[in-house]
Amino acid sequence: MKKDRRDFLKLAGVVAAAGIGATSAFQSLLGGEAEAAGLARVGAAKKSTDGTRLGMAIDIRKFADNQELAQRCIEACHSIHNVPDFRNSKDEIKWLWNEKFENVFAKDTHTRQSPALQGLPVLTLCNHCDNPPCVRACPTKATFKKDDGIVGMDYHRCIGCRFCMAACPYGARSFNWRDPRGTDDKGRPFIRELNQKYPSRTRGVVEKCNFCTERLAVGELPACVEVAAPHDAMFFGDLNDPNSKISRVLREKFTIQRRPSLGTYPSVFYII
Ligand code: SF4
Ligand code: SF4
Ligand code: SF4
Repeated sequence: MKKDRRDFLKLAGVVAAAGIGATSAFQSLLGGEAEAAGLARVGAAKKSTDGTRLGMAIDIRKFADNQELAQRCIEACHSIHNVPDFRNSKDEIKWLWNEKFENVFAKDTHTRQSPALQGLPVLTLCNHCDNPPCVRACPTKATFKKDDGIVGMDYHRCIGCRFCMAACPYGARSFNWRDPRGTDDKGRPFIRELNQKYPSRTRGVVEKCNFCTERLAVGELPACVEVAAPHDAMFFGDLNDPNSKISRVLREKFTIQRRPSLGTYPSVFYII
């Protein structure tokens, strides 16, 4: 069996052991009690070194050289998660998207940085912070941190106050100003092809990347990673397991995180 496959089966076992079975994960997604799914409600005050902590590494240059691959990752994510396309940048809903290097790492750039980095498109998503300010800001616990480190959402609990959006320093959350199940003025649906296996949202609800919780629960990789993995452009796994592929990648390659000085401890790393 290939090492990557072994890594992932191990990871799937860890997710299952954390009590995040397919049914319970969907209970949460569909509005069931998160505690019933064995999920922790409170964010850690410091970075976790015990238990499972899922994370991702993204190779910036692999994607910069292959924008078609980046688009396929975005399409895979948005189509399976019923992310609406409002065809209007003001109302845009983003789970995975491209942003210029200098915007993604705005506070971490310096005046003598290589011009080669300027303007590079960088794939951006929720960082699943180990110390997530969005969780603390949410008054209804619609946003919560799970035992495996994933910052999840219970759409049915969201009252649309957008405190989480104000608290997130990464712009990783989007608000549905319009009904995602609706159509534009030409009658075209905002969700091109509804995936019946994943809930769609309603107007007034916030959403973001969920690290593909529902796929992990059935032993699959996150959709974007599945597309990118054959190109060694994305890696996913348990950051606390020294033998996982992502831990090896982080040991061997130089990586950066977004705004580490904020103390949010992002679980997404960028290889540059
Ligand atoms: S990136 Fe933003 S939305 Fe995601 S966990 Fe961190 S603070 Fe929350
Ligand atoms: S908008 Fe929803 S998820 Fe965000 S803080 Fe308010 S209730 Fe929580
Ligand atoms: S991990 Fe899943 S939800 Fe997050 S960006 Fe990738 S495909 Fe989308």
